[in-house]
Amino acid sequence: MAGDYNPYNEMLKVLEDAAKKLGLKENDYITLKYPEKELKVAIPVTMDDGSIKVFEGYRVQHSSVRGPYKGGIRYHQNVDVDEVKALAALMSLKCAVVNIPYGGGKGGVTVDPTKLSKGEIERLTRSMVTQFFPIIGPNKDIPAPDVNTNAEIMGWFVDTYSTLKGELSPGVVTGKPIALGGSLGRAEATGRGIMFIAREVAKKKGLTLKGARVAVQGAGNVGGVAAKLIHREGGIVVALSDVSGGIFKEDGLNIEEIVTFLTAERGRLLKDYNEPGLKRISNEDVLTQDVDILIPAALENQITEKNADKIKAKIIVEGANGPTTSAADAILDKKGIILSPDILTNAGGVVVSYFEWVQNLQNFYWSEAKVNESLEEIMVNAFNSVWATAEKYNVSMRVAAYMVSVERIVTAAKMKGLAN
Ligand code: GLU
Repeated sequence: MAGDYNPYNEMLKVLEDAAKKLGLKENDYITLKYPEKELKVAIPVTMDDGSIKVFEGYRVQHSSVRGPYKGGIRYHQNVDVDEVKALAALMSLKCAVVNIPYGGGKGGVTVDPTKLSKGEIERLTRSMVTQFFPIIGPNKDIPAPDVNTNAEIMGWFVDTYSTLKGELSPGVVTGKPIALGGSLGRAEATGRGIMFIAREVAKKKGLTLKGARVAVQGAGNVGGVAAKLIHREGGIVVALSDVSGGIFKEDGLNIEEIVTFLTAERGRLLKDYNEPGLKRISNEDVLTQDVDILIPAALENQITEKNADKIKAKIIVEGANGPTTSAADAILDKKGIILSPDILTNAGGVVVSYFEWVQNLQNFYWSEAKVNESLEEIMVNAFNSVWATAEKYNVSMRVAAYMVSVERIVTAAKMKGLAN
């Protein structure tokens, strides 16, 4: 991680703030400051040229107070233990804010998957599952996709786990292909949840998605889908970016066409997309466009004290985990920008992961309409609790979301005798 930025400390700052506002004593929440378990593994992979490379991987199990550990696994060159620890803690908070019966965990492998062939990624995944095998399981710790991981990788995951276990265990991982027990609606769930939250926040500001100008940083399974679904609601997506840079169009980009282009084959990037009237901008410029709604949906540490003052959006909905630093939060707050935090906004993914897991455990599968309706109900209820808490205590939506979740975790811990 660059500079002094430590994502785990960022999480701790908000946690302390929320605990204070709740009037908790340190005894009540001190255990939340320490992940329950951290596993670091070496992952040997035979590369296509016959050489063996060893990648480093982590699984951090932050809290199991409210249920088994739950959270994705990312493949990225900047993965380190502080990032995975922070993301694991955010998962505990996220599952609590939407009130699904999970704790929180997260995994990561330090690897740039764009430099690996598909076969190498498959062998990396199977080797990783072998290393994680002793600590995961449908009732222990249930991984899922995250940055640079997808349904195909979850398919290899469930196959390796089931082979080692000696029984088909679809419930060990979520975000699987439909043919292997995945849930209808899971692939688009994070983006759909973001659309619901953007709609609800907009309503509070007297706006509608129809006609709203929107900028989205990130064009993958989170940003791309959110942009597409908001566009379908009549939103005008003027700016979008991915790792290759950003694009801008004053009267709105052709989002359907862009998403179809990007998803047609592995490795497609925005720099290779074109349409009449399109302007190229930098990834950072996407954040400072004159829009109603800004959706950072890429990585953490994007909105910082360096650029927060330049943000013109009225509303920010965090599609990514941890995109805004606490220093930036304070600046945005002063500017009167409403920010809906990651643990609420992007919870749609883990909510439908929960539905997938329930379907796997029951061997009874739902229609896509039932998945989407149940997702909407959970997201809107969670939004309403966070909004009401923010109003009642006169705090930001981020602190309010932490208050709702910390309350739930601490109450469960107390009933187990883990806090006093
Ligand atoms: N990786 C997603 C997240 O950060 C989904 C996790 C899950 O479905 O378990 O919320």
